[in-house]
Amino acid sequence: MAFTEPVATPLALLLLGHGADPDSERGVECPGDLPPVSDPDLVTRAAAAKAALGDRLYILGHHYQRDEVIQFADVTGDSFKLSQQAAAHPEAEFIVFCGVHFMAESADILTAANQQVILPDLAAGCSMADMAAIHQVDAAWQAISAAGLADSTIPITYMNSAADIKAFTGRNHGAICTSSNAKRSLEWAFEHGERVFFLPDQHLGRNTAVRDLGLSLDDCVVWDPHHPTLTPEQLRDAKVILWRGHCSVHGRFTESSVKDVRARVPGVTVIVHPECRYEVVEMADLVGSTEFIITAIEEAPPGSSFAVGTELNLVRRLALRHPDKTVVFLDRDVCFCSTMNRIDLPHLVWTLENLLQGRVVNQITVEDESAKWARVALDRMLALPGVGAKD
Ligand code: SF4
Repeated sequence: MAFTEPVATPLALLLLGHGADPDSERGVECPGDLPPVSDPDLVTRAAAAKAALGDRLYILGHHYQRDEVIQFADVTGDSFKLSQQAAAHPEAEFIVFCGVHFMAESADILTAANQQVILPDLAAGCSMADMAAIHQVDAAWQAISAAGLADSTIPITYMNSAADIKAFTGRNHGAICTSSNAKRSLEWAFEHGERVFFLPDQHLGRNTAVRDLGLSLDDCVVWDPHHPTLTPEQLRDAKVILWRGHCSVHGRFTESSVKDVRARVPGVTVIVHPECRYEVVEMADLVGSTEFIITAIEEAPPGSSFAVGTELNLVRRLALRHPDKTVVFLDRDVCFCSTMNRIDLPHLVWTLENLLQGRVVNQITVEDESAKWARVALDRMLALPGVGAKD
């Protein structure tokens, strides 16, 4: 069955950057010459620069990245796997991270001092990570401390967060989690405290607490950094204090998306990422990380049908990779990660050609103190029994 592109709505096009104002957006301007999208030699130029840089260069491509960029990736994967792969290639001086800002920060934390991590477009941020600023998190922790609960509350922070939030977690006896090991991380937290402060994705936190740990929805409260109205009693009585953040891609799937696709594709298996809303995850047949979704579709017998609730670039690639199966997008509208899509072939060519000329552009560095405490939180995750390097 041929893959049908979802409909491009005006909202989606807006999210993709139409009407961008280069004077007011971070990283949109590139010093030097950014090749035009229409340049017919972009593929040749990228290939030539990559070949000339050889082992000095290692390109990481996140699963949600565009095909035009993924074709040049030395490895593809989720953010944590990619950072680990970069650390496993110490011969590479230049790590070009085709992903978003927090991923490049994580790579800088995990790689050696001689390795320079580069994000081809500084405007490639993450809406979820941006929903938790350190001053907001500090204010929430002060409220938790003022209620006398800091000693019994363990922060668990999703990989999709800025380095200073990871550092906050390390400093306050918490751990990082990925979508693969969130259950184990929460179990560990409850072995060490009475409640969890989960940042920044409320959906992953709620889905894990309720569906995997058997807590009730009422055990969870939501801390809204813009309207922090939770009382000390509400904080004390909660088992999980969820940060009010979400992924603007996965958060778009609704119960209607699931009902609609089941009507359109009889017998379809609905498979979604745990960053989706609780109601959507409850209706799905299968729930798991991007690696879980990829493996489930790979291992399914020919003739299987899947409706996939994750980023569209990945879903489209899965559909093309498995022509013997039906793989459709869960929603009728496009659902790219607009910030991830900032990294396109012109930015990759611009980055590689600058490296060839001895100029390191858009290097991402995490200052030493933050890196140290973020590393502590990451190492706590890796030390969890049952959590492997692939989690
Ligand atoms: S898909 Fe969502 S969580 Fe992932 S980078 Fe994009 S906005 Fe962030």
